[in-house]
Amino acid sequence: MSNSFYDFSTALQQLQQQSLYRRRQITSGPQQVLINANGRQLLNFCSNDYLGLANHPEVGAAFKRGVELYGVGSGSAHLICGHSQAHHALEEELAAFTGRQRALLFSTGYMANMGIISALLGRHDTVLADRLNHASLLDGGLLSRARLQRYQHGDVDDLQSKLAAEHAKALIVTDGVFSMDGDLAPLPVLAALAEQYQAGLLIDDAHGFGVLGAEGGGIVQHFGLTPAQTPILMGTLGKAFGTFGAFVAGSEDLIEFLIQKARTYVFTTALPAAIAEASRCSLRLLQTETWRREKLRSLILRFRNGAQQLGLPLLDSVTAIQPIMLTDSRRTVKAGESLRAQGFWVGAIRPPTVPVNTARLRITFSADHQEQQIDALLDALSKALA
Ligand SMILES: *Cc1c(COP(=O)(O)O)cnc(C)c1O
Repeated sequence: MSNSFYDFSTALQQLQQQSLYRRRQITSGPQQVLINANGRQLLNFCSNDYLGLANHPEVGAAFKRGVELYGVGSGSAHLICGHSQAHHALEEELAAFTGRQRALLFSTGYMANMGIISALLGRHDTVLADRLNHASLLDGGLLSRARLQRYQHGDVDDLQSKLAAEHAKALIVTDGVFSMDGDLAPLPVLAALAEQYQAGLLIDDAHGFGVLGAEGGGIVQHFGLTPAQTPILMGTLGKAFGTFGAFVAGSEDLIEFLIQKARTYVFTTALPAAIAEASRCSLRLLQTETWRREKLRSLILRFRNGAQQLGLPLLDSVTAIQPIMLTDSRRTVKAGESLRAQGFWVGAIRPPTVPVNTARLRITFSADHQEQQIDALLDALSKALA
C-alpha cells in the first residue's frame, strides 16, 4: 500500500523544471581560497569567510587548546551546566568590543534571530521588516506571532509611513549588510526613526561584523553610530570570524531578559567551548591583523573596476558581497556551471533565496584572495556571460 504522504516526486520534478533544484557539492579539506570540491580544485568565490580566518593556524590552535581544556561537547544548555569559562570570556570580550554592557552567545545566527524577536514581541505587537531581510529575521517574526509589516527594501519613507500609522509596540528589524545584495541598511535613518517613534531596532550584522568599520566593529562602526542609537546588535561568528555561532550585544537588562525568555537560548545545547576559544582568537586577530580588512577592500575595488569595464550588471555594493544580477534562474545556473568548468566556484542564487526574477551570481571575496585571482575571475566571467 502506498501512502501518498510520502510522495515527494512531483514537487521535486517541479523544482527541477524551474531550475530551482539544489544540490550540495562535497568539499574535502579546509575552507579556504583553493578549495577541493568533488575531487576538483576550485578557486573559492562563494564563502562567507571574508577575512580568511576559517583555516587560520592560530584559530585552529586555539580550537585544539579548547578541546584539551573542555573536551568536545558542552553537555547541556547554558542554563544547566553548559556555560563554560570560555563562553563567558567570549561574551565579555564581545561586549567590550561592541562597547555594550553585555553580550549573549547563541548557537547559530538563525536561532539568535528567532529567539530575540520572539522574546521581545508577542501577538499584540508589530514587527517592521525590510523586504530583503534574511529568512531568520522573517521566521523570528512569524514565531513571535506579531503582526508582520514589510517595508520596501531600504525605503525609509515607506518605513516611516508604517511607523506613523502604528499604535502597537513595534520592532524594526533589518540586515546590516544585505546578504544576497551586499548593500547597506540606511542605519542612521533607521536609528532616528526608531527614536522618533519609540520603536525598537534590531540590527543583524552577520555580514558586516568583523569586516566593516575601522576596527571591524561592523555596520554600527561604519556609520559612526553609538550603542545608545543601536541598542540591539546581533552578529554571527560563522562568517568573518571563521568559526561558528552568534551573539547579541546590548544593555544589562536586555541580556538578562533574553536569558530568561529567548526559547532558542534556553532550550538548546550550548555550542562547544572549544568553538568559543577559537572565536576569542578570531576576535583578537581581526583587531591585530588589520591588513585583512584593507586587503579585502582593495580586492573589492579591483573587482568592481574590472567588472565595470566589462559592462557586467553589478549592484550598488561596497562590501565583500558582489552580486552580478542576471534575473533568469536558468541563465544563472548556466553561468555558474561555465565558471565551474573554468575552475571558479561562485554562488548561483535563485528564488526562494532571492525574489522571483532576481537570480544572480553571488561573488564573495576573502582577504586571502590574490589580485591575479580577481583578474582571472573577471576573465572567466566575461567568457561565462558572453
Ligand atoms: C548567515 C546569516 C544568518 C544566520 O547565521 P547562522 O549563524 O549561519 O545561523 C542570519 N542573518 C543573516 C543576515 C545571515 O546572513
